[in-house]
Amino acid sequence: MGTALVTGASSGIGAIYADRLAKRGYDLILVARNADRLQAVAKRISDETSRAVNVLAADLSDRDDLFRVEQVLRDNASITMLVNNAGFGGVTPLLNSDVERMELMVDLNVTAPMRLAYAAAPAFVVRGAGTIINISSIVAIGPEILNGVYGGTKAFVLAFTQSLQHELADKGVRIQAVLPGGTATEFWGIAGAGDYANSPLAMPVERMVDAALAGLDLGEVVTIPPLQDGALWDEYEALRRRIAGDLAHARPGSRYVTEIA
Ligand code: NAP
Repeated sequence: MGTALVTGASSGIGAIYADRLAKRGYDLILVARNADRLQAVAKRISDETSRAVNVLAADLSDRDDLFRVEQVLRDNASITMLVNNAGFGGVTPLLNSDVERMELMVDLNVTAPMRLAYAAAPAFVVRGAGTIINISSIVAIGPEILNGVYGGTKAFVLAFTQSLQHELADKGVRIQAVLPGGTATEFWGIAGAGDYANSPLAMPVERMVDAALAGLDLGEVVTIPPLQDGALWDEYEALRRRIAGDLAHARPGSRYVTEIA
């Protein structure tokens, strides 16, 4: 199975991915800022599964730390999976949000997974195998739900994943975007809406990750655990492709043309 590198593995969704991937036979490299929490997750998993679990403390919004993790992805030939999970969100509208924190969000939610995918993908292509899982969010298709920059970062992750699938699927690389809905983790406290984690509508984190991995096993490129009717996504995607496939025209749509030019 090889080694899975999981970012944001010190808590929440990333810690459960680590647990489930170890149980599937992967060795692990766990990345997050808090070394003590990473060590605790690593010890619990290695005690339970006997897999090799290493930790790499890194702040992925810091360039030097990010470069260190990229280097590991390039150099460690045992790595067969990257889970781009680390991220944070917000619930405040633009007028109540601090632009510096928004920029930090873009650094962590956009720049870091993009650079890590750029490090992993060429290595996976050379090896003819590998899996990249990118954790997006339902706000990727619902930017009105939470903070708009957060929605924008997750829309980037979704679009980037779809383009990776387009470019790499025929080179042996598996690609998946996961769009969780509200999931019971520390995310909500950090985002400024701690109560949501206790809402009956919040999905337990184990249930979310197990559904996401079931989607991977089904061969899905986009997995939306809380979506009840999966056919709706297929319709949405078919309409998107229909529109995207009909946009190369020298003339604008007739509704914009007052006289023939
Ligand atoms: P979480 O429990 O707060 O986990 C976030 C993880 O990211 C932690 O391990 C945290 O560890 C790590 N992290 C934060 N800042 C970091 C940094 N600068 N560098 C490296 N690691 C960093 O929240 P979660 O719900 O599991 O979130 C995981 C992903 O799911 C995020 O991308 C989030 O946007 C997405 N998501 C969550 C929900 C939800 O409702 N929970 C819904 C949709 C999508 P350290 O603090 O130790 O660094």
